[in-house]
Amino acid sequence: MTTANPKSEPNEESAVETARRQLERAAAHLDVDEGIVERLRHPRNVFRVTIPLERDDGTREMFTGYRAHHDSVRGPYKGGLRYHPDVTEEECVGLAMWMTWKCAVMDLPFGGAKGGVVVNPKTLSSAEKERLTRRFAEELRPVIGPMKDIPAPDMGTDPATMAWFMDAYSMQEGETSPGVVTGKPPVVGGSYGREKAPGRSVGIITREAIDYYGWDIEDLTIAVQGFGSVGANAARYLDDLGASIVAVSDVDGAIYDPDGLDTNDVEDHDETPGMVSGYDAPETLSNEALLELDVDILIPAAIGNVLTAENAREVKADLIVEGANGPTTSTADQIFEERGVAVIPDIIANAGGVTVSYFEWLQDINRRKWSLERVNEELETEMLSAWDAICAEYDARDVTWRDATYIVALSRIAAAHDARGLWP
Ligand code: GLU
Repeated sequence: MTTANPKSEPNEESAVETARRQLERAAAHLDVDEGIVERLRHPRNVFRVTIPLERDDGTREMFTGYRAHHDSVRGPYKGGLRYHPDVTEEECVGLAMWMTWKCAVMDLPFGGAKGGVVVNPKTLSSAEKERLTRRFAEELRPVIGPMKDIPAPDMGTDPATMAWFMDAYSMQEGETSPGVVTGKPPVVGGSYGREKAPGRSVGIITREAIDYYGWDIEDLTIAVQGFGSVGANAARYLDDLGASIVAVSDVDGAIYDPDGLDTNDVEDHDETPGMVSGYDAPETLSNEALLELDVDILIPAAIGNVLTAENAREVKADLIVEGANGPTTSTADQIFEERGVAVIPDIIANAGGVTVSYFEWLQDINRRKWSLERVNEELETEMLSAWDAICAEYDARDVTWRDATYIVALSRIAAAHDARGLWP
């Protein structure tokens, strides 16, 4: 394994450590064979590739890419590709583990994978990003495929990246294979509603949690860290339902209006970079201060490890809904548990992304497009059925929302391992 992300705080654990602790907590509540739990602590495979890129000025540069396969007992590996300077092998393994649980919680017939390239995509021209993506697809070709491992967008990648990836794979395979990746533009086999789906599911799950606690959404204030595809769509969804979104942020800082922002008026940072922090709001704040605002609900929807031992006692929200993958460290989680702050985990909250990826994969295999209405209706049904399963565990046991969610996931995965058995 490579060393931990040098930029993360020295005392904070890596994604894989967090993922393992969460697995162990869930296992303690279930009668699962210890051998199966031990299997799930490790990835099945991790592929490391080097990617030579010809820069626009004619020079060549080498980049490192990874694809981690965690578990495939329930179906082909599934998970995003991240382009970010902090990508490490360990991070990919941790994120792949979360994909295994996320797919199981949603009852999708997929296992978990994650990959990425160690690169700051903002330093690449569009042509360079295309060449890097095509070569990455070619390097991964032996281990991916519509029935083997199906990548998707994640931080730093988007529908255009997926179209290049699909094209590179298809050209080499000699057949158009839209099912090899999801999150493509609808014109080449992408699904309507896929881009907004992770944010939409954060909105749906927040709405359900509000309902569970018997609160009135019109009385609630919400702060959202990260106003990209997850945060902006979640904020707008909840704004439309009547909540008061008092703060949103991008990487440069947060805007704050105690009377509520009009989230449809703020362009997200994918639409226009710099628009969020440049917006004419009554007050501006740092990203750290946004997390500690006196609001009812906090939605961290930017990056991992933002809620830590350092700030968990300062968080004033009663409910945290994780839009990003892994925004809360285990130590912070423990502090929230002691303080009675409810945390709805990422693997259910943002699972709308992979759920609509599943719909996209079905559409690709069947060569039949669904309408946006059908996608959103089926997403709603799937989210509610997963939420009901989680509530049943939460109500039946003295556990956190995260434990309840992991219990649902782990019991399905363990049952599948049990049924398939170990061979040879
Ligand atoms: N990258 C997204 C996630 O973390 C989506 C993965 C997918 O659609 O396969 O859930």
